[in-house]
Amino acid sequence: QWIYLNGEYVTKENAKISVYDHGFLYGDGIFEGIRIYDGNIFRCKEHLDRLYDSAKSIMLDIPLSYEEMQAALVETLRKNGLRSGYIRLVVSRGPGNLGLDPTRCPAAFVIIIVEELAIYPEEAYREGLRSVSVSPRRNLPDALNPKIKSLNYLNNILVKIQSNLAGVGEAIMLNSQGYVAEGSSDNIFIVKKGVVFTPPCYIGALEGITRGAIMDLCDRLGYKLKEEPFTLHDVYTADEVFFTGTAAEVIAVREVDGRVIGSGKAGPVTTHLLQEFRKIVTVEGVR
Ligand code: PMP
Repeated sequence: QWIYLNGEYVTKENAKISVYDHGFLYGDGIFEGIRIYDGNIFRCKEHLDRLYDSAKSIMLDIPLSYEEMQAALVETLRKNGLRSGYIRLVVSRGPGNLGLDPTRCPAAFVIIIVEELAIYPEEAYREGLRSVSVSPRRNLPDALNPKIKSLNYLNNILVKIQSNLAGVGEAIMLNSQGYVAEGSSDNIFIVKKGVVFTPPCYIGALEGITRGAIMDLCDRLGYKLKEEPFTLHDVYTADEVFFTGTAAEVIAVREVDGRVIGSGKAGPVTTHLLQEFRKIVTVEGVR
């Protein structure tokens, strides 16, 4: 396995970063998780747009141009002979001193890891996941932050710890006002009376690429979609609930906090959207 480490290709064992890297010391950096389906980098442009926007927002200079970054992704896949799987692209602030001042870090550090992906078993897509709501709140000092896909994932990790304790695959995180925000690493949708709802990003949801793809599909397939705030009550009483994410794709939820959702398995809208999603993944992207 070859890992792109700031312009060089090294083996997994030799892929090491400095203990002074501010990505490590402070979570100062950004990342993307991207899928490759049958040699196609799914929605590559959307992922790179989000990466470069996140970088701009936190005043991080990515040392590669957009074209160079795309070429590095393609080359890393080629070197590893991988046609399907997952790309983890990380840009950290790079090595500096022990102070948190980013101006003391002369150069950002770029890492590209590609791997095969262990996702949910196919059965989970038909049967749906169990889920719970958890106590950590989406950190949201203002409407800017959820758009930055930063390395600061402590809240998401606290969510994951609670979902592990509850024995569920993904959990539901609320924002500080109690509105449903997202999962630990997935966006959330509900379906009620044929209408599809997802929280607006200002509630505290990442502008997920899969979320965007599902919104496009709703439009194309004629499902009415509303981006509006909703509560756990709306989740409990929905006909269908599903999560979306690069790794999870579109996964139904059959139970939330002990309440059975709809029929107790993947509903018709979720199933239809997953089917159509799987049709576009090999065509929308970069080869
Ligand atoms: N929310 C969070 C907090 C995430 O980490 C992710 C996964 N990257 C998502 C939502 C889903 O986004 P995407 O569809 O771009 O993977």
